[in-house]
Amino acid sequence: MRYENKVAVVTGGTSGIGLSTAQMLASEGARVAICGRDEAALAAARKDFGFLSIRADVSKLADLEHFYQEVSALGKIDFLFANAGIYKAAPLADTTEQMFDELIAINIKGLFFTVQKALPYLNEGAAIVLNSSVLNQKAWPGNSIYAATKAAVRSLARGLAADLTDRNIRVNAVSPGPTFTPIFGRLGLPEQELKGIAEQILSGIPMKRFGTSEEIAKAVLFLGCADSSFVTGTELVVDGGLGQF
Ligand code: NAD
Repeated sequence: MRYENKVAVVTGGTSGIGLSTAQMLASEGARVAICGRDEAALAAARKDFGFLSIRADVSKLADLEHFYQEVSALGKIDFLFANAGIYKAAPLADTTEQMFDELIAINIKGLFFTVQKALPYLNEGAAIVLNSSVLNQKAWPGNSIYAATKAAVRSLARGLAADLTDRNIRVNAVSPGPTFTPIFGRLGLPEQELKGIAEQILSGIPMKRFGTSEEIAKAVLFLGCADSSFVTGTELVVDGGLGQF
């Protein structure tokens, strides 16, 4: 019960890594608030798990302000997981301006303002975890913009940690390797093509499997509580060895 009497916030908490983390936080005693863009998934999380579930697009500053006002009903925030993000990939020649702008708007701008707009609501001694990716240190063809957004997130863990150390707020990044979540299904590709991509990814992972969202959540909970009380500005890579060998 490392999160007993704590208020925990997860952006993108309706699915995948965010949902697993929100569930694990609640099971360790936290009062949990989540945001996401999908009304039906938010309603399901409210009904099934009792989370304070608010519709907010992290790339819209007014949505973030409204979200934190609602969250304040739970008390000041002890833990924030800036997790909301999208994955898009395309061959270099086919990458559109729209795809570029969307990745930057959600994965970098959205994440930065998720932290900035939380400032008045954070407790002294709070912890923040940013969701980066092992692709912040590794190139895959067709992934250069996504990878660049995640390298920015890795950098923000250092920069925001430096900004917030005087409030005794720690900021770290978690960098998942390929993790089994709905994110790949959102690419809109035919099942057969997705299978081919998954097999190709799998062949490069030393542990020869995808991670689970629970395995990422465990690392996030470690970074968010007193177990990691002397850890700030760093990243915890949870990737089955992909970034190492
Ligand atoms: P997912 O698609 O299952 O979940 C993403 C969540 O983010 C959803 O709740 C979605 O509603 C929310 N979201 C997306 N855009 C949003 C926006 N503009 N405003 C608010 N909410 C928004 O994906 P996931 O795999 O759980 O991914 C979560 C994070 O983990 C992402 O940042 C992703 O880049 C990162 N990540 C995932 C993997 C992986 O293999 N699954 C690997 C490395 C990093």
